[in-house]
Parts: sequence; C-alpha cells; structure tokens
Amino acid sequence: MKTIIEPFRIKCVEPIRMTTREDRSAFLEESHFNLFNLRSDHVLIDLLTDSGTAAMSQEQWAAMMLGDESYAGGRSFYELEERVAAIFGYKHLIPTHQGRAAEHIMFSIAVEPGMLVPNNNHFDTTRANIEFQKAEALDLVIDQGKVPSLDHPFKGDMNVLKLQALIREKGREKIPLVLLTITNNAAGGQPVSMANIKAVYRVCREHGIPLFFDACRFAENAYFIKLREDGYQDKTPAEIAREMFSYADGCTMSAKKDGLVNIGGFIALDDDEWAQKARNLLIMTEGFPTYGGLAGRDLAAIARGIEEVLDEDYLRYRIASTRYLGDHLEEIGVPTVRPPGGHAIFIDARAFLDHLSPEHLPAQALMCALYEEGGIRSAEIGTVTFGRKDHVTGHEIPADMDLVRLAIPRRVYTQSHMDYVLEVIASLTGRKRDIRGLAFTYQPKSLRNFTARFKRV
Ligand SMILES: *Cc1c(COP(=O)(O)O)cnc(C)c1O
Repeated sequence: MKTIIEPFRIKCVEPIRMTTREDRSAFLEESHFNLFNLRSDHVLIDLLTDSGTAAMSQEQWAAMMLGDESYAGGRSFYELEERVAAIFGYKHLIPTHQGRAAEHIMFSIAVEPGMLVPNNNHFDTTRANIEFQKAEALDLVIDQGKVPSLDHPFKGDMNVLKLQALIREKGREKIPLVLLTITNNAAGGQPVSMANIKAVYRVCREHGIPLFFDACRFAENAYFIKLREDGYQDKTPAEIAREMFSYADGCTMSAKKDGLVNIGGFIALDDDEWAQKARNLLIMTEGFPTYGGLAGRDLAAIARGIEEVLDEDYLRYRIASTRYLGDHLEEIGVPTVRPPGGHAIFIDARAFLDHLSPEHLPAQALMCALYEEGGIRSAEIGTVTFGRKDHVTGHEIPADMDLVRLAIPRRVYTQSHMDYVLEVIASLTGRKRDIRGLAFTYQPKSLRNFTARFKRV
C-alpha cells in the first residue's frame, strides 16, 4: 500500500523555532511545571490540543472575507443554519463562541440541582458545567473503555445496562437528558458505534428522556463507523453522520474541533421550547441569536468547515496520520491507549512511568519531560485533570487513568514533525527512571489542570 499523504499543499507558512534544553528547563520552572503557562513561542511542536488549532482552507479564508457582519439577520447565519440543517438535521441553530458556552446554556435550561446527567465520559468542561448546576455528572462508558491496552473497535460505547439500571433506580424525573460524547475525548478519542447510539436512543425514547450528543468530533466518529462497523463500508461519512444525528434530539458542538475553525460552537436541536429558552439566555450571555458569540465571518468559516471535514480524503489522512504516531509508539515499547483514537494518541503514563505512584502525577511528570527533552507540548488527562483532593484526609484521589494526550491539530503538522516527536519519545525511553514525580503547590476548586502549580518531588 502506498503512503497516505497529506491531501493538501502548503500555501502559507508559520515558522516554528527551536530552543535549547537549558532554555526549556528554565521555562519549565517559570511555568510551575504547568505547560499551559508556557509561551507558545517557546514550544516547537504544540500537541497541547486539537481545539481551535486547525489550519483553515483557502475556501474558508475566502468565505471569511464574504462574512456578513450585520447585527441581526446576517447572511452568514442563514448559510450556517442551512448547512447545519443539511448535515446535522436539526431545526434550530444557536451559535456560541465555543463549546463550553453551548454547554453552559444547554445545562442552565435543562438541568436542575440534584439531577443526574449520564454520559459515556464527560469532558472536563462538560462535567464542570453540569456540576455548576449542582447536578451530578455520571460516566457510564463500557468496561472495555477503561482498559488502556485493550483493543476494541468502539471503546466509546455506553454501557446500556448501566443506563437502564440508573433510570430504574433513580427515576426518569431525575435525568433531564442523556449525553453521548462522539468521539469520547476523555477516554482516548474512542468512537461510539451506530449500534450503541441506536441502543442508547431506544432506552431514552422508552423513558421519554432526550438524548444529546457532545458532537465535537462527529466526522471522525462517522469515519470510524465506516471503517469498523458492518454495513457502513459503502456509505459516505456525510450519510453516516446524518444517520447518527437522526438518533438524537440535539447536540452541543465545539466547532474548534471538527468545525475546522479557530473559534466557534453551537447548540443544534429540534425542541421549540428549549430553543426559545436557549435563545433568551444567549442574548444575555453571548449575543443576538443570529450571531451568538461570533463574528459573521466566523459563522461563514464554520459553514465551510463542517462540510470539508466530511471529505473522505481528508478523513482517511486524518485517521491514518494519528494511527501512524500511535502504532510507532507501540513499536518502540511505549504503552498507549489502544486502538489509536481519532484526534490524539494517549500515552499510558501510569504504565510507562511505573516507578511513580498516581499521587506523584506520572502524566504531568511525563509531559514536563517531553517538553524539556524536545520542546513538545502535550496535555494531561489524568489525576491532575480528573482526580480530586479529599478535603477530609488531604490526600489525592487519583483518576482512573493517568494519560498524556498528544493531540494532533488538523492539517497543521506533516509526517516529519511526527517522526521528530517519535525520536524525542524514543530517546526518553531509555532514561525514564530519571523522570521525577510532581506534587501540587497550588490547586483551584475546579478545572484544576489549567491553573494548578507543581513542584518536583
Ligand atoms: C473541546 C470539548 C468541549 C468544549 O468545547 P470548547 O470549544 O473547548 O469550549 C466539550 N466537549 C468535548 C468532548 C470537547 O472535546
């Protein structure tokens, strides 16, 4: 088989610059070992996130010039509304400045104190926005989804029996909506199968509970269904996406992922009453309903992005290039979440740095080592992000897993950048026992990965 190449050529370049190891050690100290505090100019390969980091196409840049900046009734809104209706199939479009604003509005109107919101796995902002309503965010991913080394085609699936038991035990009134995150970011960018989507939808229907997608990576999920689920080989990603959305009542979306833009998000849904409530809240917190939290040009770029992202050449390259990094890491003996996800490779830092206990934050420690060694920035999906401090004992309650996420920005880096990343990780492998653990010196109450500080132990 021939190499799956980047299906684009480069028209505009952004230089990146090397720093010395000495520089990086100093920057790391200054950042309090939290890579969110680094200046991006001091990062060589930035795999912190795939969110808002995509390279836009010539069509998107051209569309931005044609954006309509009218306060009300802007043409760009109607263009986006039409595309969302065509691709997602929902009646109402409520544009927001990014995904978490959509979540905040959605949960403000739907969720009341004491309620429960099940999901396969909640992303950190999703959980925080539910907990902000004094409700509980429950993760019901299948057991296979919790075992990093286990190969399974749809590790993002929800445990339907657990969902049924929860509804039976707690009562339908306690559950305002059920969520499914496609793909499941927090557990490795793993897809949810069409069969599981249908099964969850059936349970929700039976009890009259709305099902919503956290749809940030809907195109990647659709492509995994095409690759892995019987009966979908001959369908286009757009057809598969349309079918997925037909089994839900709406979605929240961060366009910073599969919208292929640098900012933006939306709620799309069918229910008229929720849409009305959401618009009222939107006016108060984001802006008038035909622009939400965005400029007209942003809406125009999203309208192109959600269509381009379903292009099969693009998706083939996208999924293959992520797999390239994951498979080569496995080859050099670095444990990763298997199989490779859509947008990122997750190194199992708890297994890789087995000389560190979870209290010593192995994922955070590995991230710092990757930066110091090669100027690579990654993200923590582990005890720093999802664990918490027990306020009675003062001990850390570790997360289920300690993962380092290498997120791949869309259409930004080439294969040689990934080869460099592999070389840096390979060079660390031999000396991994020298990597020291970390301890908190400061932590905020929620979303602590963004602002926490650490020291070496
Ligand atoms: C990124 C993300 C969000 C939040 O979106 P933002 O645009 O970053 O606010 C919500 N859920 C999932 C699964 C995400 O990946």
